[in-house]
Amino acid sequence: MPVALIDTHTHFDVEDFDQDRIELASLASQQGVQALILIGYLAKYFDRLHVVQDQLNQQQNSPVTLLAPGLHPFYIQQHEDHHLLQLDDFLQSNQCVAVGEIGLDTFTAEMKQPEVYQRQKDFFSQQLEIAKQHDLPVLLHIRRAHADSLAILKQHQFKRGGIAHAFGGGIEEAKAFIKLGFKLGINGLVTDPNARRLRTVVQAVGVEHLVLETDCPDMTPICCRVAGEAHTRNTPVNLPAVLDELSILLNMDKQILAEKLWQNTSQCLALDWKYGHARIC
Ligand SMILES: [Zn+2]
Repeated sequence: MPVALIDTHTHFDVEDFDQDRIELASLASQQGVQALILIGYLAKYFDRLHVVQDQLNQQQNSPVTLLAPGLHPFYIQQHEDHHLLQLDDFLQSNQCVAVGEIGLDTFTAEMKQPEVYQRQKDFFSQQLEIAKQHDLPVLLHIRRAHADSLAILKQHQFKRGGIAHAFGGGIEEAKAFIKLGFKLGINGLVTDPNARRLRTVVQAVGVEHLVLETDCPDMTPICCRVAGEAHTRNTPVNLPAVLDELSILLNMDKQILAEKLWQNTSQCLALDWKYGHARIC
């Protein structure tokens, strides 16, 4: 029996998976992936989250599929004000576990332009308020904007926590997010020996504050990349590779580690699932 795992961050609804999603879901389930979360990024795809959730939840051998709709900061120039209403409506009419992914991203020069960045902050703030109204945690996407993100979370007195997905900050930043009730989402990047900062953060914060994710179709673990391919598509099937690496880094038995990560996930998303017992909610 494979150990039971939850993939807390996927874009398994995107076109890249249209040809073989069902087959991959079945393979992931055989690998122990009992649940996965479909994450939002653009309002025009919110309905697709729901369609793919139905498609997967109707299958016998598929991870339980959960939803977290949100407006991603990297696509800020495509968001319009009425998309916030659309988000609110979607949360009203669908069972969702979080609002995501939301946050701030200053990775490119364009994203750093004052008016673009201000709009990101506005959308982040408004989505925190929406999450509060629905009493939901949030899934954060933060790149090179940790201090500002923390400031906004504090300003809104956001107490519900959630997951800082694909955490890319340092130890002090990690501790600050943990203090605000967040877990750190760890993906295939941790399998890269050059990702020293992330590997150090993982060891410094310890298992109490971590959850697993693939971030598929990106962030393919090193072991799952196909030689000669510039970009090997990542899938939920590869989630155990992240667990394997964490078990080495934290020097922990895989089963014990998996149980702890499951508890962390189920606690921060209020899932109330006993280990190994994911169910459609
Ligand atoms: Zn994402």
